[in-house]
Amino acid sequence: MPLVTSKEMFKKAYEGGYAIGAFNINNMEIVQAIVEAAYEEKSPVILQASAGARKYAGPIYIKKLAEAAVAMYPELPIVIHLDHGETFEICKECIDDGFTSVMIDGSKLPFEENIKLTKKVVDYAHSKGVVVEAELGKLAGVEDNIKVSEREATFTDPEQAVEFVERTGIDSLAIAIGTSHGAYKFKGEPRLDFERLKTIAEKLKGFPLVLHGASSVPQYIVERANNYGGKIDNARGVPEDMLRKSAQMGICKINIDTDLRLAMTATIREQLAKDPKEFDPRKYLGPARDAVKEIVKHKIRNVLGYQIKYKI
Ligand SMILES: [Zn+2]
Repeated sequence: MPLVTSKEMFKKAYEGGYAIGAFNINNMEIVQAIVEAAYEEKSPVILQASAGARKYAGPIYIKKLAEAAVAMYPELPIVIHLDHGETFEICKECIDDGFTSVMIDGSKLPFEENIKLTKKVVDYAHSKGVVVEAELGKLAGVEDNIKVSEREATFTDPEQAVEFVERTGIDSLAIAIGTSHGAYKFKGEPRLDFERLKTIAEKLKGFPLVLHGASSVPQYIVERANNYGGKIDNARGVPEDMLRKSAQMGICKINIDTDLRLAMTATIREQLAKDPKEFDPRKYLGPARDAVKEIVKHKIRNVLGYQIKYKI
């Protein structure tokens, strides 16, 4: 199976009340960890690359890593998706490069401008058989060094969401209901606006919704990092049961990046601290890859709700 779009997997996810995991890729070990986990859990998967990841690894490496994953696991449905494309040009570049899905993020623009930009990407993407995710509302937090303060964050307006979907022709919509990017999501009690999600989902019946900033920041991983010299204080994520609940309410794609970063970093810290004489990168990148794989498996099995319906 070549790279696929998310159309079919979202349809099944919506009907089955589960979400597809969209995991951010930056290097070979992370790609390997994600696809091995997906393969072992028999789950479709979305590999997503941000502009920052393409800059870090190089667009050709990112694309070839995704192609390597497809070659390794030909039976596994894999999407390669651009995360947070901010301009028409970067979306076009990725579409022309073979991505099967792109996100155009015009969420910082005024409503009408967001529609105009998104529609332009949709017209081009659809002419090439590529699907488009867009965003309405604004998430707080830090993504690729772009910081949105809590004051600037705005939740998605349900009426606007309907109008936005109708006028742009997008395939999925990222909404803001209280999640945020990064490892510091909540100062007080974690809270998501499920009422808002319910209203949006009712107005957009059958339409796939997307949740960004949805890492859970497992405390045992944060502690492990801190035990070996890390200084990740007061980090807090979205509780897993909230993600599980949202997946049953129309959220078809859940983005997870921070948890993978934490697992990788905690493991590397531990390995380096335990064996200070070691200098073979494989000796710490190997265990770090295993740790990322474990967390991806856990997400697919216990958080996203994928119940092994898909047969390889
Ligand atoms: Zn995001």
